Amino acid sequence: MGKKCVECDEEAKYKIKDSSEYYCTECAEEHFGDLDLLVVLEDEAQRLKDFVNKKILSPQEEEELNQ
Ligand SMILES: [Zn+2]
Repeated sequence: MGKKCVECDEEAKYKIKDSSEYYCTECAEEHFGDLDLLVVLEDEAQRLKDFVNKKILSPQEEEELNQ
């Protein structure tokens, strides 16, 4: 389940470090000129996806990776 932006209820893309407040890209940029304060939620999702993708490689794909 995606998190909602606390400002506008859009799908959140960022989370404030050490907090449970979530922001969409627009609100995050508006409130925090410095996005370093924020954790990018997509990173985590992408890592998971990569992990899953690696688990379901076809034998041919695995062969290509090992070359
Ligand atoms: Zn927002």
